[in-house]
Amino acid sequence: MKKINIETFLSHDGKKAHSKGAVVPPIYQNSLFTMKDWDDVDKTFDDRVNNYIYTRGNNPSVRIVEEKLAKISGGESAKLFGSGMAAISASILSCIKKGSHIVTVKNIYGPANSLLQKYFKPKFDIEVTYITGTDINEFKEAIQPNTSLIYLESPSSVVLSLQDLEAVAKLAKSKGIKTIIDNTWASPVFQKPLSFGIDLEIHSCSKYIGGHSDVVAGVVIGDEKDIDDLFTKEFELFGAKIAPFEAWLLLRSLRTLKIRMDQHQKSALTVARFLEKHPKIAKINYPGLESFTQYELGKKQMTGYSGLMSFQLKTDDLDKIKTFFNGLNLFQIGVSWGGHESLIYAPAISYLKELSKEQFEGMGISLGDMRISIGLESAEDLIEDLDLGLSKI
Ligand SMILES: *Cc1c(COP(=O)(O)O)cnc(C)c1O
Repeated sequence: MKKINIETFLSHDGKKAHSKGAVVPPIYQNSLFTMKDWDDVDKTFDDRVNNYIYTRGNNPSVRIVEEKLAKISGGESAKLFGSGMAAISASILSCIKKGSHIVTVKNIYGPANSLLQKYFKPKFDIEVTYITGTDINEFKEAIQPNTSLIYLESPSSVVLSLQDLEAVAKLAKSKGIKTIIDNTWASPVFQKPLSFGIDLEIHSCSKYIGGHSDVVAGVVIGDEKDIDDLFTKEFELFGAKIAPFEAWLLLRSLRTLKIRMDQHQKSALTVARFLEKHPKIAKINYPGLESFTQYELGKKQMTGYSGLMSFQLKTDDLDKIKTFFNGLNLFQIGVSWGGHESLIYAPAISYLKELSKEQFEGMGISLGDMRISIGLESAEDLIEDLDLGLSKI
């Protein structure tokens, strides 16, 4: 048979029919897998990474999703975690030791940054250098003799800036430095970082991979050696497992991942084009727009664009900003994204709690910045809602 397309692969669970021909596999809601005899135990333990022993390690409901995610990302192996942050912390830990230096980009996901700054730095003397990541020379200059990891997020949070994955992977490899990317924004459908030589690819499955706003999970994908290593150390020993039921929900979600991503992209582009022309919008960040600063790089390394974007209102009058933020009907207010429902969030709400206006403006974030996640509603309805909201300010 010829190579099948991704949507076909994702909507099938393979030829091997499940018990009694069930079209959806059962949930293996068990903690334990028993073995036949002494020799069976002995043999099973010879390959702990691939055998079923105890659900803190492997579980068939989890395994089936891991295999699918590895396959669609072009990776040899994948490990599911109880959250995106569990996947991030385990992966970073696997690449550092006391006194290591990490190069990363500004505007990585907030809690990932807190992990570096408030945990790894004081506890393990980890040094961190932040760069914009838009120029490969910045990476070259930031590397030190003790650099053991380059941590990427492309497109990055809020400002959606990109890093040249192929160039960074090549540089890192030449220096024996590991690379990790948080690939949540693009999803495995639109960006395949492993094909550019990145070592570990992470997703918060709570976003597009889950897609229904009913699961919190994370995944790390990479080559077999790295994932096996992660399995026996940071995964199993820290106990970062995902529940079989949540894995089963992810399997449900994967069946529609490709068609959801296509729809998110289509609607998001329509909304972005509307916002780009609106007189009350100062700036829009969406890698799918030709006017996006790094449009060419995006086109080179992504095959599509998801539904998360940010824009800046022209006003910096906080009352007006709040009127817009509170005044939408179809966009619900919330911090997550990537689900079926459209959402709005204002990054300044979080930053105002911790930083001065000058400090967060230094990070490229302003009071009037809005982040929206375009869900699966009709783009026409979403535009009407935004237009009405903008007319009030
Ligand atoms: C949500 C998110 C995470 C964290 O994932 P959780 O599943 O919430 O732990 C990591 N990276 C990005 C870009 C995210 O948006």
